[in-house]
Amino acid sequence: MDIRFYNTLTNEVTRFEPLNPGRVKMYSCGPTVYDFAHVGNFRSFLFADLLRRFLELRGFDVWHVMNITDVGHMTDDVAADGLGEDKMQVAARRLKEDKKSGKVEEGAVANPDNPYEVADYFSRAFLEDGRSLGLKVVSEYPKRVPKATQFIDEMQQMISKLIQRGHAYVGSDGVVYYSVESFPRYGQLSGNTLEALRVGAGGRIDISNQSCKRHPADFMLWKPDPKHIMKWESPWGAGYPGWHIECSTMSMRVLETEVLDIHTGGEDLIFPHHECEIAQSCGATGNELFARFWMHARFLLVEGEKMSKRKGNFFTVRDILSGNATGTPVHPAVLRLELIKSHYRAHSNFTVKGLTDSANTVRRLTELGQRLRDECGGVPKEIDRAEHPVVRAFLQALANDLNISEAMTVVHAWIASPGQDAADAFGVLLALDQVLGVWELTSCDSEADDPESDIAASLCALIDEARRARDFSAADAHRQRLIGLGYEVRSSPEGTSAKKKFA
Ligand code: AMP
Ligand code: ZN
Repeated sequence: MDIRFYNTLTNEVTRFEPLNPGRVKMYSCGPTVYDFAHVGNFRSFLFADLLRRFLELRGFDVWHVMNITDVGHMTDDVAADGLGEDKMQVAARRLKEDKKSGKVEEGAVANPDNPYEVADYFSRAFLEDGRSLGLKVVSEYPKRVPKATQFIDEMQQMISKLIQRGHAYVGSDGVVYYSVESFPRYGQLSGNTLEALRVGAGGRIDISNQSCKRHPADFMLWKPDPKHIMKWESPWGAGYPGWHIECSTMSMRVLETEVLDIHTGGEDLIFPHHECEIAQSCGATGNELFARFWMHARFLLVEGEKMSKRKGNFFTVRDILSGNATGTPVHPAVLRLELIKSHYRAHSNFTVKGLTDSANTVRRLTELGQRLRDECGGVPKEIDRAEHPVVRAFLQALANDLNISEAMTVVHAWIASPGQDAADAFGVLLALDQVLGVWELTSCDSEADDPESDIAASLCALIDEARRARDFSAADAHRQRLIGLGYEVRSSPEGTSAKKKFA
């Protein structure tokens, strides 16, 4: 079974094979930790997770790295030259306001003036969100989730190498710039040309600070800045690194290779971020290629529109899970499925209707899982993934540029008729779920070690006791508490039972 992916670098769907048989090395641009991650960010992160899990089910050993940007991502980075202010410093100011107005819980960030503490606060929030949504790479933190501030020495080494090799220079403002003219292939990923960029690329490049640079598109590698709070000594003065050099350095260091198999990110990162990563990495190594496959997720829209704070359709993962956004708490498995179930190269549309549909699928899959687990005593049959018709069809769909819609059609058909052999079917469910990650998040809800399930069981017992005593108002009060905890409550002559609801 061939695997075929769309490669932004060649604009074609081509056959994928890793450089070293059996092992895939992939890097995904992670969050800039200046705020809570929104559902759009997680659409990109979970696309990378889906890709990684598919490759694993297909039998590869996947080294997946996702970084945390905790310094150097500027507010004006569309211009590629590091203008504007460090997002961490902006976040520190905002957090101070949020603390005053009580939006940040007491004691969460002792000193919001300190961007290190701010970065730490939002890094932890990202790891928590990632864990709750089954983003596998966060379970490999810190090894596979590097932070930019931990790689400053390595970034400086790479910048020195770029200067030595004639790809970088110190501008008249003291900033170290990458010289785009030194790298003839600059523009190959995004389709930009140096000529178009020279005249400002239709407003995308700020050409106002040109006197310090050789070419308007030259971008910053190191910025000496004695006023910047997050700064490090360097041969070019105390300062901080550019955002692009961070990913070039961390990807090659942590994946222990100069050539990556796959590099992912959201579509907005194609230019300038990924274009600059290629120029830096190939400039430093002299290699023809930095990443063999570039894969980008299209943006997530909300009810058909671009997500924006101004329009009020801007949702963090926390807003959705807690029910702040839609009025009803959403189970993490439902949000996960909703964010992975449309093709990564189509604009996915986040809607309440979509969440309801995902909740139905999660409920059906979970109920089936519970039944199969009970019937086979929790012991699945070993499944030969390459041979089992259902798993094979599922893999085949995903091997076609991650065709998730077709893969979900296979899943739905199988849920409708999973066959008579419970142990076999349970094995299939676990195999499919290695990619879907749904049962992984819901199966624990019904297990005894779920701290809430004890409360649910005692509330059910209290309802039955009150009903026997014909104290219907007490029974109703207990029922309301269970509903408030997100349970669906059913009473029958045999007694009361409660099941976690998925939306
Ligand atoms: P940031 O934290 O801004 O550095 O972004 C983290 C990731 O989220 C990047 O890969 C972005 O491309 C991606 N991203 C940002 N907004 C969206 C969106 N609305 N839909 C999909 N991906 C997004
Ligand atoms: Zn990056």
